Amino acid sequence: MMIVMKPDATEEQVRHVAERIGSVGARAHISQGEYVTIVGAIGDDSVIATLPLEAMPGVDKVLPILKPYKLVSRQLHPDDTVIDVNGRSLGGGVFALIAGPCSVESEEQYMRAARQAKAAGASMLRGGAYKPRTSPYSFQGMREDGLKIMAQAREETGLPLVTELMDPRDVEIVLRYADVIQIGTRNMQNFNLLSEVGKVERPILLKRGMSATVEELLMAAEYVLKEGNDKVILCERGIRTFETATRFTLDLSAIPVIKKSSHLPVVVDPSHATGKRDLVLPLSLASVAVGADGLIVETHPEPENALCDGSQSLPTDEFAAFAAEIVRYVKMAGKRMS
Ligand code: PEP
Ligand code: MN
Repeated sequence: MMIVMKPDATEEQVRHVAERIGSVGARAHISQGEYVTIVGAIGDDSVIATLPLEAMPGVDKVLPILKPYKLVSRQLHPDDTVIDVNGRSLGGGVFALIAGPCSVESEEQYMRAARQAKAAGASMLRGGAYKPRTSPYSFQGMREDGLKIMAQAREETGLPLVTELMDPRDVEIVLRYADVIQIGTRNMQNFNLLSEVGKVERPILLKRGMSATVEELLMAAEYVLKEGNDKVILCERGIRTFETATRFTLDLSAIPVIKKSSHLPVVVDPSHATGKRDLVLPLSLASVAVGADGLIVETHPEPENALCDGSQSLPTDEFAAFAAEIVRYVKMAGKRMS
């Protein structure tokens, strides 16, 4: 249920409503908008319905939350969520360009990519140290050694780090290095992992499962918010379709669809979506046009020698020209770079 407070409701009245919700074992989620405060009552609706909420002082109206996701829904939280990542924000008109190699392969490779990303104006660095590979015989990532190299790149460039976590047993170690924890497409419905990262305070970049609907993505995000972590960045990274011309099919319509239903920021990964570097720029520009709050793009100093995803990685020496085009479109969309 959603309790809309009157515009002149006092803090005391809002607190009182929240306490009554708590008294029946439900959770109150307060969303302070510019004009009105909304209190979400999350729990068993049949129990919440027994409360005389409409009659309580300061309450304007009580409405049902129509979607299966609650905390993630824009109904409960009308304003855009803006996520701060060590001074680089994302969402609410601020656009983040996240760049870097698919995987950390060596200090030399990662530092070259990081320096060029920084010089081109990237907002954050990406890099995988724990890699979800289709084949168990493929390179699996440098693990903590890779995270150490990423930390060195952060030290030098000042850019925050985005890196994937695959296993709840690695939460502690990844938390030591990551500024944003990425949950990959293959783990979008790993509910134990989602609940674990819901208990930490670090922002989460949650990638859409390659065969997941938008609603399933939002339900996955709900798992994280339910545990208390409301810093979730959603990521459209392409879905499985009958089309084989590209690695996946970038679902551009997902961006405005999500933005209508949810207050969470959405970034697009055109690298994994297409699998082809020459398609990364056009789909990035399209993503800006449909309202994305950021991009996460793979780069590599020598894509032909990459241990992972070379064919979709932009050569780092071409990244500055790519970034300049993105900045131009971001400005046209009336946003600013993070
Ligand atoms: C990645 O970002 O390197 C990655 C493996 O992405 P996804 O989970 O979208 O395949
Ligand atoms: Mn990759």
